[in-house]
Amino acid sequence: MDGGAHPGGRIGPNAITQMAAALDAALPADAVDALFAEAGLAAYRRAPPARMVEEREVAVLHHVLRRRLDPALLAAAAREAGLRTGDYLLANRIPRPVQWLLRVLPAPLAARLLLSAIRRHAWTFAGSGAFAARPGHPVRLSIAGCPLCRGAVLDRPGCGYFAATFERLFAGLVHRRARVTEVACAAAGAAACVFEVRYTTWLTSIMLDTGSST
Ligand SMILES: [Zn+2]
Repeated sequence: MDGGAHPGGRIGPNAITQMAAALDAALPADAVDALFAEAGLAAYRRAPPARMVEEREVAVLHHVLRRRLDPALLAAAAREAGLRTGDYLLANRIPRPVQWLLRVLPAPLAARLLLSAIRRHAWTFAGSGAFAARPGHPVRLSIAGCPLCRGAVLDRPGCGYFAATFERLFAGLVHRRARVTEVACAAAGAAACVFEVRYTTWLTSIMLDTGSST
């Protein structure tokens, strides 16, 4: 279990604020207050963080949510929080001309450009974890030392928040039918959390059949 402070072990406040918003949409406010209090984050209910937060705080919040919430409710809230985070990034962090360019490019090329942008900003969501990405079909993104599930032991992948964030970005910018699945999770014994993006259409199928054997 990781309890110490890392250099660079901070991530963007969306991991807290969008989860709070998703929980508030599903539960009474006092129940959400109690969950944040149990995680030692009551102050964030009074004043939501506007800057980078300690990744340890995010890990503890997820730990409390896994302990207290029904797994289906938690999965739905994590997905909602991830989609909201994707919406925030589209509205505030990705310049309009870049979004326009990605939307008009063929999906495989747009995916490459989006991956390089995500890679440049990986420190804002992976913290001290190590992000890697590989274009192709499916696109694969991975986070070793993922701050969401650190210290957890699960029988299925538990980082749906990241899967949903990636899905909103790929669906908004690369292909509207993009779907993201966490196919391996450190909490379930894998070396890293791995996310696969699929957006196959008749056109990408033809291009991939001729351009890739994997
Ligand atoms: Zn995971």
